[in-house]
Amino acid sequence: MPSRKFADGEVVRGRWPGSSLYYEVEILSHDSTSQLYTVKYKDGTELELKENDIKPLTSFRQRKSGSTSSSPSRRRGNRSRSRSRSPGRRPPKDARRSASASHQADIKEARREVEVKLTPLVLEKFNLLQESSYISTQYSLRPRREEIRLKEMDSKEEKFVTKELAVRTFEVTPIRAKDLEFGGVPGVLLIMFGLPVFLFLLLLMCKQKDPSLLNFPPPLPALYELWETRVFGVCLLWFLIQALFYLLPIGKVVEGTPLIDGRRLKYRLNGFYAFILTSAIIGTCLFQGVEFHYVYRHFLQFTLAATVFCVVLSVYLYMRSLKVPRKDLSPASSGNAVYDFFIGRELNPRIGTFDLKYFCELRPGLIGWVVINLVMLLAEMKIQSRAVPSLAMILVNSFQLLYVVDALWNEEAVLTTMDIIHDGFGFMLAFGDLVWVPFIYSFQAFYLVSHPNEVSWPMASLMIVLKLCGYVIFRGANSQKNAFRKNPSDPKLAHLKTIHTSTGKNLLVSGWWGFVRHPNYLGDLIMALAWSLPCGFNHILPYFYVVYFTMLLVHREARDEYQCKKKYGVAWEKYCQRVPYRIFPYIY
Ligand code: NDP
Repeated sequence: MPSRKFADGEVVRGRWPGSSLYYEVEILSHDSTSQLYTVKYKDGTELELKENDIKPLTSFRQRKSGSTSSSPSRRRGNRSRSRSRSPGRRPPKDARRSASASHQADIKEARREVEVKLTPLVLEKFNLLQESSYISTQYSLRPRREEIRLKEMDSKEEKFVTKELAVRTFEVTPIRAKDLEFGGVPGVLLIMFGLPVFLFLLLLMCKQKDPSLLNFPPPLPALYELWETRVFGVCLLWFLIQALFYLLPIGKVVEGTPLIDGRRLKYRLNGFYAFILTSAIIGTCLFQGVEFHYVYRHFLQFTLAATVFCVVLSVYLYMRSLKVPRKDLSPASSGNAVYDFFIGRELNPRIGTFDLKYFCELRPGLIGWVVINLVMLLAEMKIQSRAVPSLAMILVNSFQLLYVVDALWNEEAVLTTMDIIHDGFGFMLAFGDLVWVPFIYSFQAFYLVSHPNEVSWPMASLMIVLKLCGYVIFRGANSQKNAFRKNPSDPKLAHLKTIHTSTGKNLLVSGWWGFVRHPNYLGDLIMALAWSLPCGFNHILPYFYVVYFTMLLVHREARDEYQCKKKYGVAWEKYCQRVPYRIFPYIY
């Protein structure tokens, strides 16, 4: 029986197939017939290697460099890159080109060799890993100005690889049962049935004279009282008017982030125009004496009508998703009908150029929220016989108006959010966008109609300061990331430091994103608090939004961290080491 050089459990360096890169691996087993070792890389990938491709750790220890790679080509690459820190010592262009060319040669050769040896599943993983191990370990913290120059040269060549990777990972692999989010099927069932019920209970609680939690449950209306066909017609009309505005050929057309097959969808940015046109219509209606109090009086009926509309829409979305090719499915879809109905099966459902998800994200619900707030302001004046709205109502209306106008003004930013790039369009987003946002986010204004709260000017000033602090963090962080994603070579961002990742996109490790992970969530939360404070401290109900939003963002942050770890692997871990602070550090 031929002898083996390495024992099971031994930690050694294994050559990445087809390349000259060596990584730390653990020996799992040895097959005496094929003479192959099964090894496990740090990220969990298992491969079979020949003995020649394995070296003891000691053979790498004499190196002084902090680099994790021991490959000769990496060492070369590192030297030339570190030299380039000083402009005077920057290597000639060809040197950089040849490092890059050798990188490409490595990649191509590795791909050829591995394609022969590995199963498609392993190959897919290899595609991601091989890139990530090469690039992401080049952890650069030097000013981006220099970095950009180097990367511009590499990027052309890397584009080829990235595109190939995209094509290769074309098939959307359904996620396994254990990866289902939101508590899997029981969780999403609970959310789908529980949230609408909860929403109604909350509104009914708020309608009570004393909305204290001790008065739970509130008196329930008969079901038939909640339905009014005319109200449903108004909702439908609202949706159609917004759809019409969306179709207007005004506003810039931009491309979204690349899809899994390399395509980029086009999106028209005219949400802000839609808002202006809507304001003009509402203004005209007010001038003509249209009775907006109707909306306040039928608020529960409007909520039910919007919920029914959203359920019908979700059924339509699910049915149409059954006919689309697999490449058009969302990465979040699982193959389980109930779960997919909730999370959305199709990533970008479109009727012609009409993108249903993108449209619903910012138009009917978000603009609807502002209109509902206005309705509440008018209702407050009418019910409390005021000549002018209360300061509390003005604060709530202005704070939230700023939020909506900001979102519409920066409409393009929505194209890089999880909603657009990861989640499908199903019940979750339909209900969130079309019911939850307009009817729950307007809750503070709804509360103030029947529960007035006097706010002094000094208190109002503090609330304004708080709101502005939150806004600066929120806007600064979102704009910085969006500008970076849009144009990583933007000279205005040249001072920022970054980490390379395997996907071709880099991660910011300075600026807002170097201060804390998800700084945008922090700003959003501060603003949420500022929206609730004008309602005073008599009841907990107006603070529901802050509590709910904290829970949403905790969960969202966990989801995003998980997705980013999957997307960026080692590079994400390095980002986490570099920026260890998170806004919810001890919650999960
Ligand atoms: P983010 O805008 O925070 O986007 C997360 C993505 O940003 C990640 O998946 C990653 O995507 C990228 N990213 C993360 N870290 C970095 C980094 N260091 N450098 C560069 N890119 C990074 O996610 P959301 O979609 O959750 O939120 C968008 C905004 O919407 C937030 O301000 C949030 O508060 C707000 N929001 C508001 C809600 C509300 O109801 N009011 C609900 C949900 C969100 P990639 O690398 O692929 O680009």
